[in-house]
Amino acid sequence: MPHVIIVAANDTTDSNPFQAFTDFFSTPAWQFIVYLFFFVVVAVWLAAAYWIYKDARRRIEDKVVIGVCVAAGLVFGPIGWIVYAIARPSEYLDERRVRDLDLQMMEQRLSEDPRCAFCGTPARDDYLVCPSCHRRLRQPCQSCGRPLEPTWSVCPYCETETPSASVASRDRLR
Ligand SMILES: [Zn+2]
Ligand SMILES: [Zn+2]
Repeated sequence: MPHVIIVAANDTTDSNPFQAFTDFFSTPAWQFIVYLFFFVVVAVWLAAAYWIYKDARRRIEDKVVIGVCVAAGLVFGPIGWIVYAIARPSEYLDERRVRDLDLQMMEQRLSEDPRCAFCGTPARDDYLVCPSCHRRLRQPCQSCGRPLEPTWSVCPYCETETPSASVASRDRLR
């Protein structure tokens, strides 16, 4: 009988170091830590998907594409978040709209409201001189007398080469 008791006592002393761990893993405290960990992971996961949704709405117009980005964030987790952060459009929609509007306004100003390059007075594109500062805006064609833009090398009305163009072609021949 005493022999059996000694063996049993030996058994408990052998497994003692691990016993503390296994005891800890079955305590309510450990259970709480596990639940807390999963709760934090789920919270971060959902928060990241929500961030993608908010960020994508400011950058992407297409609702389907926004949905795909959010779904990728939910399904692929951190990989989806990183891929979205790298591949997302660098420009906000607001910025792009403002830039497009600026560009449109500039184009409109150029096309609808030509002005004298020297004093800014509105000047139609067939004026030879500025009505306000009298500076020469265009040269008349030597053959038909119509106003020519300084950049033109040939008169579009009568096909006569402009003097600047003949100078340029002479320079090229030299
Ligand atoms: Zn002028
Ligand atoms: Zn002409």
